[in-house]
Amino acid sequence: MGQVIIQEDTTKYPLQLVGKEAGICWNSDTSDIEKNMRRGLDCIESNHGRTWEFPQIYMELDGYSARVIREFYTHIGGASSRLQSSTRYIDYESGFDYVTPPTIAHNPESKQVYDQAMKDITRALQTLEALKVPREDCAMVLPLGMTTKVVCRMNLRTLADMSHQRLCSRAYWEFRSLMKDIMNALCEYSNEWKVLIPKVCMPKCEVYGFCTEKKSCGRKPKKEN
Ligand SMILES: Cc1cc2nc3c(=O)[nH]c(=O)nc-3n(C[C@H](O)[C@H](O)[C@H](O)COP(=O)(O)OP(=O)(O)OC[C@H]3O[C@@H](n4cnc5c(N)ncnc54)[C@H](O)[C@@H]3O)c2cc1C
Repeated sequence: MGQVIIQEDTTKYPLQLVGKEAGICWNSDTSDIEKNMRRGLDCIESNHGRTWEFPQIYMELDGYSARVIREFYTHIGGASSRLQSSTRYIDYESGFDYVTPPTIAHNPESKQVYDQAMKDITRALQTLEALKVPREDCAMVLPLGMTTKVVCRMNLRTLADMSHQRLCSRAYWEFRSLMKDIMNALCEYSNEWKVLIPKVCMPKCEVYGFCTEKKSCGRKPKKEN
């Protein structure tokens, strides 16, 4: 099971921050917390995109597959930054952890094939290492299903954009799950995030009012209908 840890450098009061920054430009009184919050909420609800870029999210994603993290990396908006644990330091003696998709976990026969494949990979890694192949080259054999750890920074706007794509029923189940884990972790981080998250994080069909996917799940009608 993956885990999202919101780091303490994350903006604790995103609404106040947005409201304060916008208020300075409007020559408003920015010393009043309540007014800043209301102004911040107004900017968010009015979809004033640049204001969404002030709140920053610093987080640790641990135990998600390398595959889902590869997809996570395609979200480049707002010059997000990431560091990922190196595959050079995986201990091949104890093997590596991996994600098992529910469709495989629920079927003993599939699970047995899947687990065996992971064992075979571990054995191949051990053999390559015994043959003195450098770790950085042995790592080429590692599967996309192996778990990894990432620290990252992104702004609220990028997170919202990401949710539009990745809460879509057509997105991969693990990314949908990761997206929900991030949203829940932020809601626990502070009350302002709890107010903010349901307002900005939603699948794209909720944003547009119709489905843009060719193969629609039927949650919303297609535009042409
Ligand atoms: C069902 C589904 C299937 C998918 N399948 C695949 C797949 O097979 N392969 C794959 O690689 N990805 C796939 N994706 C991921 C998707 O296509 C995007 O790569 C991903 O969502 C990140 O890109 P983005 O533009 O949404 O986000 P970001 O890069 O974070 O961009 C956010 C927003 O910033 C703006 N922006 C970003 N970069 C630029 C730029 N250079 N110029 C101008 N504006 C910019 C745009 O307005 C954009 O919407 C899939 C997504 C879904 C939901």
